[in-house]
Amino acid sequence: MEVNQAVKDLLALQDRLSAYNHAMGLISYDGDTAAPRGTAENRAHTQGILSEIAYEITTGEDTAELLDFLDAHKAELGQREKRMVELLLKQIRFMRKIPKDEYVAYDKLVVASQSVWHKAKLESDFAAFQPYLEKIFEYNLRFARYAEPDMDPYDFWLNENEPGLNRKTCDAFFAALRKRLVPLIRACGEKEQVKDDCLKGDFPEAPQRELALWMMEVMGLDMDRVGLATTEHPFTTMLGSHLDERITTHYYREDVSYSLFSVIHEGGHALYDTGSDPAFCYTVLDGGVSMCIHESQSRFYENILGRSKPFIRFLFPKVAQLFPQQMKGYAWQDFYRAVNRVQPTLIRTEADEVTYCLHIMIRYELEKQLMDGELSVGELPEKWNSLYREYLGIQVPDDRRGVLQDSHWSFGAIGYFPSYALGNAYGAQFLREMEKTVDWRSALEKGDFEPINAWNREHIWSFGSLYTPQQVLQNALGGPLDPNCYLDYLEEKCKELYGL
Ligand code: ZN
Repeated sequence: MEVNQAVKDLLALQDRLSAYNHAMGLISYDGDTAAPRGTAENRAHTQGILSEIAYEITTGEDTAELLDFLDAHKAELGQREKRMVELLLKQIRFMRKIPKDEYVAYDKLVVASQSVWHKAKLESDFAAFQPYLEKIFEYNLRFARYAEPDMDPYDFWLNENEPGLNRKTCDAFFAALRKRLVPLIRACGEKEQVKDDCLKGDFPEAPQRELALWMMEVMGLDMDRVGLATTEHPFTTMLGSHLDERITTHYYREDVSYSLFSVIHEGGHALYDTGSDPAFCYTVLDGGVSMCIHESQSRFYENILGRSKPFIRFLFPKVAQLFPQQMKGYAWQDFYRAVNRVQPTLIRTEADEVTYCLHIMIRYELEKQLMDGELSVGELPEKWNSLYREYLGIQVPDDRRGVLQDSHWSFGAIGYFPSYALGNAYGAQFLREMEKTVDWRSALEKGDFEPINAWNREHIWSFGSLYTPQQVLQNALGGPLDPNCYLDYLEEKCKELYGL
């Protein structure tokens, strides 16, 4: 085999795999957005066949031979090809350790499980979801053991979501957060509560959707390539390549802020993916490199930019134009204070920046205990509720607003949650670095995201998955994770907001 020919074969292989991923992604997206309720089995059937073919292509002898050959000729490859081989080999080595029937059965399980979770959440019926969740945890435990028998299974999944991450790092990171967050939340709680009544009322869906689309444009998303749909739980997905990105939101008639900030969050994910170098399309280099870096972008747009004073000043007239009655008598300052109000609440995605990481810590504790076998899935709702009492001091009224609120476990994302908290911390570090050269405040006052997007494009987005997350951080920040940067940011914001 010639190296030149092998590189061509490598690109052709990824081309084929992206086509299967495109089809499977679209089926799954359809299930979440438009498909009628009774079609899950039909989708799971097709999904099972496609995933079997993708499994065979990925783990087949031809692929293994090609990648081993390229790996042996690493020195002759360019940086991009080298990284493609590295990423594909990692994936293949994992998949080859999982028996095909189990791999396919798991894929089918998560398709079915998502629709069961959806219904269970609406009806607040954990018992209906429990058998699926038990299986999901069993599979994840087993797959981790197949893949890395000597590794702690939860460490395995943390590392899959964020290469290099483990319990030790998470434990230390969360301990550092807790030390300063708990007194900060208490201090805010002792002050007079900020009012958020301007966010509550009756906000029909049509103008909310108009606001969402306007927001996407303001953020600089390419509206010809990024679509918006409605789902129970907002998410972002890349279909086939970064040339087709879909984001979703959820409109609550009684609260105007939920969808707005969901759209900014998911829009941040979409900016990251669609900012990949166009040459990366249909390869494994396309799109964001890891969940932490991804969440660092989404949470950066949602909170650091989206809830900042200069941006709210720019945003408020648009909200007032779409909801003249509801915003009557309020000024941008009221809106700014309302969207930054610090108060322990039930729902993670609605949580303010200060209490948010406590929601993550709860999920992290539960995942650890479930993976260690210290907690059974049946005991999960009770444990969930008791941790909410302990960490946030609030009573969970039902499972819909408790253990069933997030979709992640229903599609098998174990070890994902810490990415949000780490992403928050990275976001603050990116800001500190960015503001050395970008006057983001004056840009946002004019609603101009371009200087900010340009910085992110240059330092993060354009590289897609070319570099490891650690390299991305090193390149952009010149240093590692520093939780204190994020904590300083939060304390400063609260000081101003609550007069601490
Ligand atoms: Zn996200």
